Amino acid sequence: MREDLQVYDNVLQLIGNTPLIHLNRIIQNLEGEFYAKVEAFNPGHSTKDRIALHIIEEAERKGILKPGDTIIETTSGNTGFSIAMVSVIKGYECILAVSSKSSKDKIDMLRAMGAKVYVCPANVSADDPRSYYMVAKRMHDEIKGSVYINQYFNELNIEAHYRSTGPEIWKQTEGKITHLVACSGTGGTISGTARFLKEMNPRIRILGIDAYGSVLKKYHETKEFDAAEIYPYRIEGLGKNLIPTATDFESIDKFVKVSDEDSAHAARQLAITEGLFVGYTSGAALQGTRQLAEEGEFNKNSKVVIIFPDHGSRYMSKVFSDEWMNEQGFFDSKHEKAANQIEF
Ligand code: PMP
Repeated sequence: MREDLQVYDNVLQLIGNTPLIHLNRIIQNLEGEFYAKVEAFNPGHSTKDRIALHIIEEAERKGILKPGDTIIETTSGNTGFSIAMVSVIKGYECILAVSSKSSKDKIDMLRAMGAKVYVCPANVSADDPRSYYMVAKRMHDEIKGSVYINQYFNELNIEAHYRSTGPEIWKQTEGKITHLVACSGTGGTISGTARFLKEMNPRIRILGIDAYGSVLKKYHETKEFDAAEIYPYRIEGLGKNLIPTATDFESIDKFVKVSDEDSAHAARQLAITEGLFVGYTSGAALQGTRQLAEEGEFNKNSKVVIIFPDHGSRYMSKVFSDEWMNEQGFFDSKHEKAANQIEF
């Protein structure tokens, strides 16, 4: 790459080094300084570019992958898109088993990037043969020369963020970060970033965002899997109905749970107050930050970094659709329609 001219050999060279953007307006009434790490600036528009590239390059380094081989993954969309993008450049087949909860936009995007997509029912248990885990596992067993990324149970998911996201945030804040707020799905982002940051300064607080309907927060607090915590919810990519080994629970200080409704409104507010068109879980991260502030987590000396995982364009038929918001009953007395959405 010619860095001086900003000319790249291929799109993969643009992965990482995402900007940190000061949240000036949306967070005015809270104590402390708040910065968003905006992962939509990755070429695949999400934080998952980092793990797709790292896991695939590690497999190449170990001699597991050769040109023409197949890469298989279960994914709510973002990881799939990133794997498909890396596969295009490196010459691999990409097969993805996705949850039926994923937005249509996401599934179309995966197909546009050349992936073969299998849509599997969302509300079945992980060991059901129809689940996306079992479908992916079966295909991995059947296709010779295939690699299963297995992001929920792959230590390299953590390592990708330990090597990139963590050091970037440390450098961008000149070592002054006091709190990290990050969503937890596979747990790779929060765990890898946390491990690096805690090595640099063990006093940095690591705050995880979980969804109502997910088991992560309860598991963190009790070390017990409580199936009663599980029920359907709308936010994609956040929370889980199982305990992923890609989550290092020890590195996380505290979890907070957010609702579908509050998170959706927070995502919409980010667009119209900060000009940041980011996804549903970015709204969840902002909402969680507000709740943490209410719990007294921050003070005037806090320097808080919030990771915004992906881009708003993936949610046009959901959070950014008034019809969808209405169908969910999300325009209620608590949350009025945003002022700029008055109909003429
Ligand atoms: N937000 C979105 C939109 C995601 O797709 C994911 C990944 N499942 C996350 C947040 C959570 O990131 P991680 O898997 O690294 O915990």
